[in-house]
Amino acid sequence: MAQARKPKLAVWKFASCDGCQLGLLNCEDELLAVAGHVEIAYFPEASRAMAKGPYDLSLVEGSITTPHDVELIHRVRRVSKHLVTIGACATAGGIQALRNFKDAQEFVSIVYATPEYIETLATSTPVADHVRVDFELRGCPINKQQLLEVISAFLHGRKPNVPPYSVCMECKRLGIVCVMVAHGTPCLGPVTQAGCGAICPAYYRGCYGCFGPEETPNTDSLSKRWSHLGVGEQDLVRAFRTFNAWAEAFREESVAHEK
Ligand code: SF4
Ligand code: SF4
Repeated sequence: MAQARKPKLAVWKFASCDGCQLGLLNCEDELLAVAGHVEIAYFPEASRAMAKGPYDLSLVEGSITTPHDVELIHRVRRVSKHLVTIGACATAGGIQALRNFKDAQEFVSIVYATPEYIETLATSTPVADHVRVDFELRGCPINKQQLLEVISAFLHGRKPNVPPYSVCMECKRLGIVCVMVAHGTPCLGPVTQAGCGAICPAYYRGCYGCFGPEETPNTDSLSKRWSHLGVGEQDLVRAFRTFNAWAEAFREESVAHEK
């Protein structure tokens, strides 16, 4: 009897540090189970063997920063039944999107001895600015359990069970004492999407927003609270301009505090 064809999985890299792809490789035991249910058809970080598309599920890491990236992401979309972006770079432009607030060509002329060899766009943008994306998985890096949930959901034709609420909810559920209320430590948890298990507050540190904005972030209210804690305007700009600086809610809040 002919065996059923395994769904084909592809993993693509754009401008990024590779940390989110490593998240998949770090799944170790679970990766064997994944490999039992899908054909890992294209994953240059893990294997030289590359099978041609079309692919049932493409995971895309990294932001769009060059004209070549723009061409490639459209090709990836054409050969992918489902396209899921993973990590802060692919979902929000990444730390490299800090250049979007400045003149990128000025950086190029200062950093490179022969700037004419550098072909780059003026901005670093999320994949969803260029092609249709079926799901965005947040985090810098992503949570590997959430990644497995997303892969499983797409293979079974259901919606991923990834909560859109804030890190504060995770603190409450885990019984973590609020660092902002108890110690006056500025924390971005109220506007940041859950998924990390509130790691930073668990170690008495404020969240710095590496999972990006939650579904309905009230950044204005949080900024006012931070101001009452003595945080100045320049530090507010810096707080909202890290890994997810170009995510709309964080971008607008940082601009509102720019002098
Ligand atoms: S520590 Fe931060 S994330 Fe946790 S409840 Fe307080 S404000 Fe929210
Ligand atoms: S608490 Fe905030 S900064 Fe720390 S890992 Fe979680 S989302 Fe990232």
